[in-house]
This record gives sequence, C-alpha cells and structure tokens, in this order.
Amino acid sequence: MTPVECEFESEVLAAVLESRWPARTDAALVTHVAGCAICGDIVTIAGAIAGSRDQVSSPAVIPDSGRVWWVAQRRARLEAAEIAARSICAQVRDPNGMGKG
Ligand SMILES: [Zn+2]
Repeated sequence: MTPVECEFESEVLAAVLESRWPARTDAALVTHVAGCAICGDIVTIAGAIAGSRDQVSSPAVIPDSGRVWWVAQRRARLEAAEIAARSICAQVRDPNGMGKG
C-alpha cells in the first residue's frame, strides 16, 4: 500500500510557507524531499499557494481622485451620447412610431 503520510510533512510545509525553502532549510530535509513523493507534492503545492499569496498581498495601485472624477465624467458623457443616438436611430427607422405592421 502506498503511504499517505510522512513524518516530515509539517517541517517541509513550514519551510516553504516561511520562505526558507530550500536555501535556508536543513540539508537533511532537502535530501529527504528529493526522495519522498509526499513531501515533493507539499513543496509543489505550498509553493504555488505561497506565490499566489504574495501576489494578492502586493499593494494595490489606487488612482488619484482627479483621475477617477475625469473617467466618471467621460463615461457619463459617452453613455448620454449613446442613449441620444439610440433614440435618433429609432426615429429615423420609424418616424411616425407606427411600426411595420
Ligand atoms: Zn517526506
């Protein structure tokens, strides 16, 4: 039967999540992981999780209020022009409002 647990899982997981893997980890543990499928999977998965955590925790870039106001005004003008053009097109197609029937 294939083993599903390894006694070093928690040490490997801690090393990866604390960004100590593999440079600042005990050499014996690194050697063990090279030959252990379970710990190898932990390194792969925990590494991906730690990488995505770093991306999520990066500081967000918030635009200044003047730019937000300018973009909102521009969007409002474009939407108003689109609505006005839509009703003009409807009048051109059916000037009496009677439909085709
Ligand atoms: Zn192991």
